[in-house]
Order: sequence, then C-alpha cells, then structure tokens
Amino acid sequence: MPARGWAPRAVPQQAVNGALGDIRRARWVAALLLAVAAASAWADAEFQRDLERASAINVTGSVAETRAALDALAPRLDSATPVQQAKYKLLLARNLVLSGRSEESERVLDEVLAQPPSTAVAIRGYGLAANIAMLSRRWERAFDLLAKGLALEPDLDDPEGMVTLLTVASYIHAQAGQPEQALEYARRSLEFAERTGSGRNRCLGHHRVAYAFKRAGTNDEAERAYRLAIGECEAAHDPILKGVAQSGLADLLRQAGQLDQADALFAEAISSLEASGYAIGVDEARFFEARLRFAQDRDAEAQRILLDLLPRLGEHAHLDYLAEGQEMLAKIAIRRGRSAEAAERLAEALATRERHLDRERAMRLAFLGVEFDLQLKEQELALLREQARVAGLEREAQRQQLRQQLLVGAVAVLVALVLALLLAQARRERGRLVAQARHDGLTALDNHTWFFERTRRSLEAAAHDKVPLTLVLADIDYFKQVNDQHGHPAGDQVLRRVAQELVAAFGDRAHLGRVGGEEFAIALRGVPAHEAVVLLQQFRRRLEEARPGPDGSPLTMSYGLASRRPGDTVETLRARADEALYRAKQAGRDRLVVADDPQAKAPVT
Ligand code: GH3
Ligand code: MG
Ligand code: MG
Repeated sequence: MPARGWAPRAVPQQAVNGALGDIRRARWVAALLLAVAAASAWADAEFQRDLERASAINVTGSVAETRAALDALAPRLDSATPVQQAKYKLLLARNLVLSGRSEESERVLDEVLAQPPSTAVAIRGYGLAANIAMLSRRWERAFDLLAKGLALEPDLDDPEGMVTLLTVASYIHAQAGQPEQALEYARRSLEFAERTGSGRNRCLGHHRVAYAFKRAGTNDEAERAYRLAIGECEAAHDPILKGVAQSGLADLLRQAGQLDQADALFAEAISSLEASGYAIGVDEARFFEARLRFAQDRDAEAQRILLDLLPRLGEHAHLDYLAEGQEMLAKIAIRRGRSAEAAERLAEALATRERHLDRERAMRLAFLGVEFDLQLKEQELALLREQARVAGLEREAQRQQLRQQLLVGAVAVLVALVLALLLAQARRERGRLVAQARHDGLTALDNHTWFFERTRRSLEAAAHDKVPLTLVLADIDYFKQVNDQHGHPAGDQVLRRVAQELVAAFGDRAHLGRVGGEEFAIALRGVPAHEAVVLLQQFRRRLEEARPGPDGSPLTMSYGLASRRPGDTVETLRARADEALYRAKQAGRDRLVVADDPQAKAPVT
C-alpha cells in the first residue's frame, strides 16, 4: 500500500482510494511527459545532427547538394529550437545567394535579423546580408548592415560569425578605397579564424588579406596571401572559396605579366567553380580569363567569352567589368580594322563608365554616411554631395545644350533647305524670263534685240577668224492683205508657218529671228554671198511648194542680202541688207537683191 505512513486515520476509506487513484494517474502523466521530453530531445538531437551535416555539405559540396540537404530538413523546421531555425535560415540564405536568388536570400535574412535568438546568430546574419548587398552593389544597405554587425559585442564562444563579418568589412573597405582599413579587418578576421580552428575560415581570412594587398597594389604580399588561402581551402575541401582565390591569384599573375602561370590557374579555378555551381563566381573568373586572352592577343577567344558574359555582367551590376569588357571589344574591333563597330563599342563603354562613376560616387557617399569605428568625415561627405550635385547639374546642362544644338541644327537644315528650294525656283524663273525676253512669243524665233545681239557676237567672231558671214532680211509680200481679207488670227497663223519653213530649211546652219511684224532675218556664219544665194533660192522653191498662205494659198517674200566686209558693224551690215530689201520691194517684190554686187545691180529673181 503506497503512502500508508502519511495517510491520516480520520480519513474515510473511500477518500483514500480516490487519492490513490489520483496519484496513479499523476504517475502516468509524468511518465508520458518524460517520454515526450525524451522523444523531443531525441528529435532535437536528430535535427541538430542533420543541420550540422547540411552545414558541412555547405562547405564541401555543390550548391545543389546543399540545397537537397536543406530541403530534407525543411518539414521538421517547426519543431526545431529557435537557434536551430536561425542557423537553418542562415544556411538557406547562403545557398539562395550562391544560386543567384539574392532577393529571396535577403528576405530570409531579414526574418532572422528581425528576432535573432543570439548575438552570434545576429553577427553572422549581418555579415551575410552585408555581403549580399555588396555583391549586388547596393552600398548603402551593405554599409548599414555592416555597421550594425560591427556594433555588436563579439561572442568569443562562437567566433565563426565574426570571421564572416570581418571578412565582409575588409572587402567593403577595399572596395571603398580604404586598403589600410581593409587590411586591418582582414587580419582581425584571421585572428578569429584561428579561434574557430577551421581551415576554411583561415582560407577566408587569407583571401581577404590577399585582396586588400591587391587593391593596395602590393602584389608580392597579395600573391603570398592568395597562395596561403588556396592551400587552406584545398585542405578544407571548399571548392567555391578555392576557385575564387585561384581566379583572384590568376588575375594578379596576369597583371604581373606571368601569362602562362595565369593560364594554368584559370583552368583550375573555372573547373572548380563550375563544379560547385557558383554561377557568379564562374562569371567573374571568365571575365578575368577574357583579360588574359586579350593580353595574349588571342582576340577571338577574348571576344567569344565577352560576348557571352556581357549581358550577365550588366545584370549583376558589375558596371566596372561591363565597361572594361566593352572597351576590350572596341580595341579588338580596332585591331581588326572594324572602325564602325569600335566606335559603337566605345560609345557603350563610355555610357557604362558614366553609370559606374555615378554608382561609385553613391558608394563613397554611403560609405562616409555610416559611422564605423572610423571618424565621420563630414567635410569629405559634404564635398562629395556637392560633387554629385554639380555632376547632376552639369549633365542636365549638357543635355539641354545638346537639345539646343539639335534644335539649332534642325532649324539650320530647314532654312538651308528652304533657301535651296527658293534659289532653284528663282533660277528656273530667271531662266524662263531670260528665254521670254530673248524670243518671239508667236514664232519662238529670236526676237529683234536678241537676234542682232547674237549677230553682233557672230560678226566679231567671224572678223576675228576671217571667215564670211551673210545677213539676209526677208519680208512677206502684201501681208497686210492677208490680215485684211482673212483676219488677224489667220495672219498670225501664216507668220508661224513661214517661221516653221525657215527652221526646216536652215536648221542649225543659221540663226533665225523675227525682227519686225512680217519681217524675218537669217544670219549665216561661214557662208559667203554666192552660197547664201543658192540656199535662198532653194528656200524660195520650198516656200512655193509649201503654200503657207491662208487656206493653202501661195505666198512670196522679198529678200535683201549683205555679206560681211572688213570693218563692218552689225549696223552697217544691216543697213546694206535693208537697202537691198528695199530695192527688191521696189523692183516688184518676190525676189532677192544682193547688196554691193556690182554685177548684180539688177535683182536676182
Ligand atoms: P509689202 O509687200 O510692201 O511688204 O506690203 P505689206 O502689206 O506686207 O506691208 P505693210 O508694211 O504695208 O503691212 C505690214 C502688215 O503686217 C501691217 C500689220 O498689220 C501686219 N502685222 C504686223 N505685225 C503683225 C502680227 O504680229 N500679226 C498679224 N496678223 N499682222 C501683223
Ligand atoms: Mg511686207
Ligand atoms: Mg514690212
């Protein structure tokens, strides 16, 4: 009988039995609770074991292998302790960022950092989050997270988080152009790495030391640190960090002109990074490789790598690499004599450089805006802000200037176009007026003024060349009667037909004019009088056949002919032809009289 010794006598048996039942039940409950607690502890331990396994795979395995280990843990996450949950999320965040899913990664980290279960977890979270922000070049966020992490008291029992945080601090300061500070943080990260006793952490520390030296231009020290990092990573079986350190060293060797060594190292780095599945790391190594190929004059390979890489470099906001790549492509195009392509590439590179400089300026601003353990450089900050403002104003001014130049250019082109059109129109108009002023509207032959002007020139030329020139004046006989009997329009028609016959008969051999109402003129250059007489007799027969009078009636003309004599002006020549014509009319019309012909005082008929 349990508990007999302490049961009071006065208590009735029934009550004793009830109490005994309670105690039994309580034992069952306790046993059950113990079993649950044991099971739960066992579950916690199992989760912890799997978490550590995932953590190890995270170091040595590929991105995909780590992801698989994390996925296996996910369904048991709700029953895990807060610290376990946080550690799981830190691993998940790193895995997400390695597979290029930075945004999801940041969301996971924000969850952890909203309520960190311990300082150590918070320090790791800030380090990782700052690292991610920095990779995507969001400096303000990176510096802010870093400052928050560095403000926490380091947990000496869990130094691993400090290694992450300090290596990020080192990298950020190197990027921000503070190599001394970067080196200081890198050395502190090495101290914490020693405390963890992990080769991988030492690899991280050496890598940062190397990078700080590289940025400072101390290449020997950088090379030594890179080699230490590679050795530690190799021993720790971390393909990602090893690949990154190898590609950093290869690029350093390329800079130092040791191209063959660089070549071999790149091959190793890329295969290591590709096997790990760390895409961003592969891209960076490939970019370094393109620099090497370019330095080796292996243009085709450099170009192939760059054309594949450039679109992605823009995506990851590596604008400095992007601009450099575009410049390399431009130089390759120049070497190949493709100047148009080179110009296009250079323009792209310039635009990218401008964007990059803006980012750099923003980065410096963000850097100075955060108070690390450095003093706040108010003045430099103000100066940079001013520079940024001035740069913005200058750009706006340039843009406006360009707009104005374009506008002015467009207006100038328009004005020039209108002027050219007006000029062409004026020329056409002038040509029309000139033609009008020189020709007879009815017959299209030269008018009086123009005919005698041309004859004057021909006479001068003939005198110079000592060749003959014959002038003939021809007047229609009894033309007044045509008008009187058939009307003025019929008279006009007759004038036109006579002109047509003249053109048909003399064509290019003479120039022809209508020099009075029904009076025509023929200037025959190089033709002496006796030849001109033959030609005119032919014309008279032609006119006889043509019957150009109204309704096909016959029509005759009287002709006065004079040939050039030495010292003749157009006036003296014309006066003799006129006088001969007068004599032809006087002699009864329908005949040709040759001036100055003593043999032919009588008209030629
Ligand atoms: P002649 O044999 O003496 O030359 O006699 P004619 O009638 O031909 O000469 P006259 O000088 O007496 O008359 C010339 C006429 O030509 C007078 C004028 O009306 C006519 N005439 C002048 N210019 C034009 C013109 O452009 N069109 C027409 N239809 N007639 C014209
Ligand atoms: Mg007449
Ligand atoms: Mg007349």
